[in-house]
Amino acid sequence: ENETLDYENVYKKSAKRFMHKEYLLLGGGPINCSDRVLKAISMQTLNPLSVDMHQLMDEIKEMTQYLFQTKNRLTLVSQTSGSGGNETIITNLLDRGDKLVIAIGGTWGERVLDMALRYEYDVLPLTKPAGEVYTLEELENAVKSHKAKLLFVTHGESTGGILQKLEGLGPMCHKYGCLLGVDAVVSIAVDPLFVDRWEIDAVNAGTQKAIGAPPGMCLLTFSPRAEQRMREKKMKPPYYFDMLRQGIYFDCFGDHTRMFHYTFSSNMLSAVREALAQICEEGLLEIWARHKRNVEYFWKRLDEIGYTCFVNKRENRFHGVTGVNVPEGISQRELIKFAKDKYDIEIAPGFGPTLNKAMRLGLMGTNSRPEMADYLIEALKDGFQYLNK
Ligand code: PMP
Repeated sequence: ENETLDYENVYKKSAKRFMHKEYLLLGGGPINCSDRVLKAISMQTLNPLSVDMHQLMDEIKEMTQYLFQTKNRLTLVSQTSGSGGNETIITNLLDRGDKLVIAIGGTWGERVLDMALRYEYDVLPLTKPAGEVYTLEELENAVKSHKAKLLFVTHGESTGGILQKLEGLGPMCHKYGCLLGVDAVVSIAVDPLFVDRWEIDAVNAGTQKAIGAPPGMCLLTFSPRAEQRMREKKMKPPYYFDMLRQGIYFDCFGDHTRMFHYTFSSNMLSAVREALAQICEEGLLEIWARHKRNVEYFWKRLDEIGYTCFVNKRENRFHGVTGVNVPEGISQRELIKFAKDKYDIEIAPGFGPTLNKAMRLGLMGTNSRPEMADYLIEALKDGFQYLNK
């Protein structure tokens, strides 16, 4: 009765894999963490009810307000990945049967549609041909005709490589009593985002993209309008995603009770704090300019070696992840394998709009540097010569 499953084989296999190799993560995210972030995550775990933990939360909250350019008191970090952040937004702002418009720009918008249907919202999904973005007028017509309570938009779409403009959407939505929710999972700290100035009501940002912390957390902010909607709505959101509950733990409402919500990992929070500190030290203006400068340099070099971009219109292109067409006669799988085996580069294959058409190449966070663009170009050029036989 003391018999267990065979352990020796499992152990032997995992021991061999224990120290995995390091790669340059130049796909759709996650990206590589800095040494400072890696050191922070390995610090001793904290009691989730301790003052040290509260300080960690407060510092993250303050830096996240800067990151989002907002004074929203309900600004916090959540222990769920980007998908959970999107699910948090819709479930905190809508009741079953409520009207929602989703401006789909690729796979992530489709995933939000999938979530919304599970919660039985009354959804109007919008679609666009690959590489195209929505005009303010198109979105206004949809909000008006559907009498939407929420418009959900993806800012940067890492699957199609597009950037949806957000200016003007907030005031337009508010004219119709509608709220504006934004997936900024991959666009955060790449392209400009002004939550208060642009009147955005709910935003979700990933930690694992340009922020440079590991995956598994997201940063969220909610406007006073959104907070009011949460207090007025009839149905409670799923417990784990309940922002009014979590907001108490993060002392967003100033009652200082810090009622426990669930056990946060201080290791993960430390990593996020360190990554945000690096963002604050560099400054958003420089970060946005750096991403634009380096990706434009990358596009120029792509052109020089004969590769083309998936999104033709430059003004629609996202500055974090670029869809790059696979040259005729070359296998995407083999090119990606070549880059990994010879250059230790991880490139993301096409997904959603880019499936079987283009690879997804990301220069984000610490990897947004001219020398990284050059190294990637060298791998693509070498790969083409090797495989084009
Ligand atoms: N939205 C966007 C725009 C993304 O790029 C991603 C991450 N690939 C997600 C949502 C989903 O985030 P996660 O994989 O962290 O759940």
